[in-house]
Amino acid sequence: MAEGTKVVRASVKTRLRRGLRFLRTRVRELRMIGKALASTKHPILVHIIPMRQCNLACTYCNEFDDFSKPVPLDEMKKRLDALADMGTSIITISGGEPLMHPELDAVIGHIRRRGMIAGLITNGFYLNRERIERLNDAGLEHLQISIDNVVPDDVSKKSLKTLDGRLEMLSQWAVFQVNINSVLGSGVKDPEDALKIAQRAVELGFTSTVGIIHDNNGQLKPLGPHEQDIFEEVMELGKRSFSRFNEFQHNVARGKEHEWRCRSGSRYLYICEDGLVHWCSQQRGYPGIPLAEYTPEMRHREYFTEKFCAARCTVSCVQQVGILDNWRGPQNLKPMQMEPPAPQPQLVQIGQGRGDS
Ligand code: SF4
Ligand code: SF4
Repeated sequence: MAEGTKVVRASVKTRLRRGLRFLRTRVRELRMIGKALASTKHPILVHIIPMRQCNLACTYCNEFDDFSKPVPLDEMKKRLDALADMGTSIITISGGEPLMHPELDAVIGHIRRRGMIAGLITNGFYLNRERIERLNDAGLEHLQISIDNVVPDDVSKKSLKTLDGRLEMLSQWAVFQVNINSVLGSGVKDPEDALKIAQRAVELGFTSTVGIIHDNNGQLKPLGPHEQDIFEEVMELGKRSFSRFNEFQHNVARGKEHEWRCRSGSRYLYICEDGLVHWCSQQRGYPGIPLAEYTPEMRHREYFTEKFCAARCTVSCVQQVGILDNWRGPQNLKPMQMEPPAPQPQLVQIGQGRGDS
């Protein structure tokens, strides 16, 4: 155990509730896989942004601003209804910082009422016991926090030091599954940090994953030999999570291109705060069509559209979705002719970008 940290135990009641929710979610996930294998006509995973504003300002991030308002609850419900009507299986709420949205519990409740699996990506700074209990009651099933370093620095305040108390609270009170993502790559000062973060996650009963830093287009930055060793160790620790199905990440770590079929725009959708559909967080602007106007024909077309950025992509959640279809549906279409995407001056664009909060 790391110095100055402790392992907390959840009450029997919390452990029972956690076990029950885990079983229910697992059954729903297995059903989700069966449905995805049986039909290619619905989205499997959607990332949706209810709040672009963030309380932090990590210098690598291109996914936040410091002023935008929350998307109103009625509008969020309309978007979620449209996604449920498409047959979407999983909705992951992302940002910005979604916990800044004043009606986030109602958003989560609506996802569950419409029969979809509910996940949340947060920087964790707003978590406390009361907030965790509210997320439990809303029906949240997965929560992910990315931690960048052991002590905060100029690049990122998302450190084990600032967040460890919140992690202990999650370990004690959360009935949903918690995953801690650590990061490796250029711009991360000490690669050993990723290992310490993953070890602490496992110690507290969470799953752990490791992400590799990418540039503003979600593209590959190979790791050095020492970082590669650490990567393999953290992957080993993360074997309890779905990341074990993430073999292509080993190629990414070695700087090798990988062969897969990115189904963004079809099986995976990214819905920004303006309600537009994008390929992913790192390829915003295309197709840039309002969700309400996004037809089954458009999804079908994107399913067969080859993505120019696939070979060097590091966006692991889209790659995991891709596994369910990599064996079928060769892609031979080119992206639709579109107006060039409008610049997004409202987004703070600093340095290199990276995936989720
Ligand atoms: S391959 Fe797909 S997920 Fe990866 S950057 Fe391109 S559009 Fe995004
Ligand atoms: S990485 Fe997450 S926490 Fe950091 S600025 Fe971006 S959205 Fe906020």
